[in-house]
Amino acid sequence: MQEAMINRAKELMADGTVSRVIGWKRGEFAYDITPAVFETAEEIDSDFVCDDFTAANVSKYLIKESRKEGRILAFLKPCDTYSFNQLIKEHRIIRENVYVIGIPGGPKLDAEKLKARGITGILGVRNEKGTLHIDTVYGEETMPMFEAILGKCENCKSTKHVVYDELMGEEGEVIADSGRFDRVAELENMTAQQRFEFWREQLSKCIRCNACRNVCPACSCENCVFDNPDSGISNKAAADSFEENNFHIIRAFHVAGRCTDCGECSRVCPQNIPLHLLNRKFIKDINELYGEYQAGEDTTSRAPLTNYNADEDCEPSIVHERGAE
Ligand code: SF4
Ligand code: SF4
Ligand code: SF4
Repeated sequence: MQEAMINRAKELMADGTVSRVIGWKRGEFAYDITPAVFETAEEIDSDFVCDDFTAANVSKYLIKESRKEGRILAFLKPCDTYSFNQLIKEHRIIRENVYVIGIPGGPKLDAEKLKARGITGILGVRNEKGTLHIDTVYGEETMPMFEAILGKCENCKSTKHVVYDELMGEEGEVIADSGRFDRVAELENMTAQQRFEFWREQLSKCIRCNACRNVCPACSCENCVFDNPDSGISNKAAADSFEENNFHIIRAFHVAGRCTDCGECSRVCPQNIPLHLLNRKFIKDINELYGEYQAGEDTTSRAPLTNYNADEDCEPSIVHERGAE
């Protein structure tokens, strides 16, 4: 797939359809991948990579890139297309300035899961019948593929692209039984005290690096509340448990109804905090209270939390009623 992508990208640059390409490039090791913009065929030939580690969602970069001169080619995995659509809906990306090629998704690999088994100096990987063969500077290692999958790919909601200009590979489908709310349901079945303790244990690990906010396609505000120098909480580590909770609860409310469940926040968290569980709780609640809704599925529908329906919307008392359940 990588070779076909490189060839197509160079074709589209050569015929003037696009002037640059956003994709990924490799660092020192195979897992050391970063999103990158390529402006020449030579740069693409030398640095462009798309493999088992290219998990990063490039949609958010298109907010700025689509405002620059010329059209940009973006390779989007199925999950990335939901983020892209949501950003179109929010008028954050200029659609005509982006040429989208849909590419197959994962599952992508989590380098931390390899490192946790003592596998370092990773040069490359290949999957053979469910066994991952890992080429390292110290020789070859193996491990079961399913133990190396990135968290966000474990409960993939869709292998279908919701937007593209052209498609590479086979189109997928929405996965109705992804099981992505199973862990949320387990948390709901805990007592309030158990749940509080679970989240306190998780959120107390937060170092307020802001990586989750910075990577999040739904966190696209030009002036974020957490950067306000008058807020007293701007760009600093949480002083106490209140501030630890505060950051995450506010952010979760801000992205509620707009979070596409892309899983990027959990992927980049250096403290391995399962942020997706908080966001999925909001998605699950919205589905139950306002009807099934998938952010990013389309660019025209009204989102439940910005669409008032006097007859069908739940009343604020639902919070108390659910608490009493
Ligand atoms: S990425 Fe993790 S550690 Fe960093 S601010 Fe977010 S939750 Fe905290
Ligand atoms: S909150 Fe997390 S899962 Fe939701 S859109 Fe942002 S990065 Fe993606
Ligand atoms: S935390 Fe809130 S204010 Fe900050 S970028 Fe995200 S949505 Fe915007």
